[in-house]
Amino acid sequence: MQNTQVLLAARPVGAPKLSDFRVFQTELPELKEGEVLLEAVYLSVDPYMRGRMSDTKSYAAPMQVGDVMVGGVVGRVLRSNDPGFSYGDYAEAFTGWQHYGISAAKQLRKLDPQAGPLSASLSVMGIPGLTAYFGLLDVCKPKRGETVVVSGAAGAVGSIVGQIARLKGCPVVGIAGSDEKVKWLTKELGFDSAFNYKTAPNTHAKLKDLCSKGIDCYFDNVGGTITDAVFGLLNPNARIAICGQISQYNNTEAELGPRNLSQILVKTATVRGFLVMHYLDQAREALIEMGGWLREGKLKYRETFVDGLENAPAAFLGLLNGENTGKMLVRVAPER
Ligand code: NDP
Repeated sequence: MQNTQVLLAARPVGAPKLSDFRVFQTELPELKEGEVLLEAVYLSVDPYMRGRMSDTKSYAAPMQVGDVMVGGVVGRVLRSNDPGFSYGDYAEAFTGWQHYGISAAKQLRKLDPQAGPLSASLSVMGIPGLTAYFGLLDVCKPKRGETVVVSGAAGAVGSIVGQIARLKGCPVVGIAGSDEKVKWLTKELGFDSAFNYKTAPNTHAKLKDLCSKGIDCYFDNVGGTITDAVFGLLNPNARIAICGQISQYNNTEAELGPRNLSQILVKTATVRGFLVMHYLDQAREALIEMGGWLREGKLKYRETFVDGLENAPAAFLGLLNGENTGKMLVRVAPER
């Protein structure tokens, strides 16, 4: 059986380019005992993939040039050598950017197509939703009435963070990269206010205007100058969750260290990085609570789809450029 894959063709220098990827045809190997063959239906493209394309040391090993691009997938079972899976089942897998993937059955999460849209298991009911839930509730620990600011607010993680903060009784200010995104956050998702960082003449002044009582919690998806501006407005004992630093992922030289640390000192603030993978043993309870909010209409989400596996590189570059609202996904094959 022939398989189409997207490989890492070159390590990007600065912003990734289409030529850093290569579409490749290969034969599928035989299925071994305990393994399952899946056809990819939805593929997740995520900011962390930029890190894996570099050889810089991080929490996960880098990809090698020539490797299949890594990634989470919703797949349909075509063949199974494991009693837990049969033809036509759906599962979440980590089989990467390819039409067909083989996975050990024990590494799959079986999905119930009746429980909700399958794609949601890669967005609100998957890693991005869990990142929002634990980063906000366990790291920021917002108390009713405290002001919460979230950067990357219209993305997969940020859009959920702001809504959970609202559910906890907090005024929420979102920072995003287009007027349409700002409108979505305030008119549909219930953010108290939001602004476009690309057109605001002065981020600090804009935030000061919108956060008249200062900032108690900051959920940081982006780092860089936006985070500098937030640090200048922190309230005493503020909590900052460092979730992502997307504004820095294409840097070719190291940043000149953390900035504005004197503000952390004088406001006795706490800055804590976190990785969602450290919370996976608590995921079930979190997903039950989020599922409830979804059913009650208290939590909304959006997904941006790009069609075709061969367009996965373009979808990934689009994600880094802010072309997504909510979660960026590639539709590899139709649901049946
Ligand atoms: P998003 O859906 O938020 O997509 C990325 C967004 O980043 C783009 O849409 C764009 O939106 C914004 N962006 C790109 N460049 C810049 C820039 N220079 N300055 C400000 N914003 C920028 O992705 P995710 O929700 O999947 O991830 C959000 C963050 O969370 C990422 O940093 C990611 O690495 C991190 N993450 C961390 C996890 C953890 O365990 N700690 C787990 C999952 C994600 P815009 O139009 O607003 O610019």
